[in-house]
Amino acid sequence: MSGLAERELLRSLLDEGDRAALTEIFESRVRFDARLGPYTSWKIGGPADALVDVETGDELTQLLRFVFKRQLPWMPLGSGSNLLVGDGGVRGLVIRLGGEFTSIEFLDDPSHVAVTAGASSSLALLTAQAASRGAVGIGSLAGIPGSVGGALRMNAGTDKEIGDFVREVWVQTPTKPEPHPVTPQYYYRHTTLERDAIVARVSFAFERGDPAVVRDEMQRRLVRRKKTQPLQFPNAGSCFRNPPGDKAGRLIEAAGAKGWREGGAEVSQLHANFIVNRENATAADVAALLARVRRTVYERSGIELELEVHFVGVFA
Ligand SMILES: Cc1cc2nc3c(=O)[nH]c(=O)nc-3n(C[C@H](O)[C@H](O)[C@H](O)COP(=O)(O)OP(=O)(O)OC[C@H]3O[C@@H](n4cnc5c(N)ncnc54)[C@H](O)[C@@H]3O)c2cc1C
Repeated sequence: MSGLAERELLRSLLDEGDRAALTEIFESRVRFDARLGPYTSWKIGGPADALVDVETGDELTQLLRFVFKRQLPWMPLGSGSNLLVGDGGVRGLVIRLGGEFTSIEFLDDPSHVAVTAGASSSLALLTAQAASRGAVGIGSLAGIPGSVGGALRMNAGTDKEIGDFVREVWVQTPTKPEPHPVTPQYYYRHTTLERDAIVARVSFAFERGDPAVVRDEMQRRLVRRKKTQPLQFPNAGSCFRNPPGDKAGRLIEAAGAKGWREGGAEVSQLHANFIVNRENATAADVAALLARVRRTVYERSGIELELEVHFVGVFA
């Protein structure tokens, strides 16, 4: 790529007017050219043109109207636990939800454990609180880092997935910026949620069981995770989806990739489907390692692994 083309990819899309308009609404809650690495679990990633912290549904409506009018690219950022942000950063706006989007409210429902959670509420907090009320099946979400909105987008889970427990999802979009309900379909690590929809809140219903039994099961799963996942280094969980009838981790280990390194990134010795940031890894290091692993697994097994982590931003 020529130097000129690369400079174009790195140039902010926001003009002075955009910056002034965003500052007027969000004051210190908008940061320009803000590095995203600290907001991801890999601790990797270049700057966003603007990183905006949104606290209310009304603010989100206003912001979505703004991006629609200005035709600016934007993306929601949850806890960044499933994201590889390019070293060149993200052009346009990165939206983080906080404030009223962090609420978790249990409802009075005699037949179920029913709860409504804001999109940026912590999945870990939700699972702990639901377990203590006896929410059957919540153990399958235990130990998954991230926000409720990110988990919904990913249909995160293990043997059961978050979509199995959803009652209602409320979203906002640039073309329909007021909160409104939608009914996405849920598949293995993805959903039919529109690409331009930002999840605002989700309500769930769990079968009601014995809290002691549910908490015990959850504890067992958390202990197992600690033993089998390299949690002492920054990572983004499993990088590849499991192919039908097999495990990506097994295939990667069989390909001899455990311990491979590119720059500061390493295929974990403990869990082959995890890439850990051992030492100031860049997104380019991780991307190169993922490509090498994928190519080798294909050569050895004929299976083309699909990425589970989302790549965002500029990788030039
Ligand atoms: C140690 C570790 C273990 C993990 N274990 C599991 C596991 O067992 N099972 C599993 O499924 N995953 C697992 N993950 C991956 C990750 O935690 C989940 O995918 C999680 O649900 C992502 O949530 P997040 O808030 O971090 O999303 P982010 O990484 O911030 O975003 C993920 C995607 O969702 C989009 N998004 C974020 N918020 C919203 C919103 N409000 N509305 C619409 N889109 C949004 C983003 O734009 C992005 O495309 C693990 C990760 C780690 C680090």
